[in-house]
Amino acid sequence: MAENVFLVSAHELLSIGWHCPHCGAIYTVPIERLDRGLPPHCSNCNEVLAKGHSQDDNSDVRMLEKFLFFLRISREREFGKNLCFQVPLKIEKRT
Ligand SMILES: [Zn+2]
Repeated sequence: MAENVFLVSAHELLSIGWHCPHCGAIYTVPIERLDRGLPPHCSNCNEVLAKGHSQDDNSDVRMLEKFLFFLRISREREFGKNLCFQVPLKIEKRT
């Protein structure tokens, strides 16, 4: 597997999603449409993807809500124009 690293600005992020550890399904939601959050369960196999609930500050669901809030707000603010995420680009070679 070859791997490269590149930078993506907050404004270039198109969507955020889940990769189900059980069935491998991938869900993506456009960042502009995250007003209802991401589903806490896989809709294919019902695997729990984020534990807890919004009222618990230490739950996975609450941490995710805070992250999504940060993403949305940073895109609206001046500092967000310079905010970048370094991400790996993995290319699998199939034989
Ligand atoms: Zn699943």
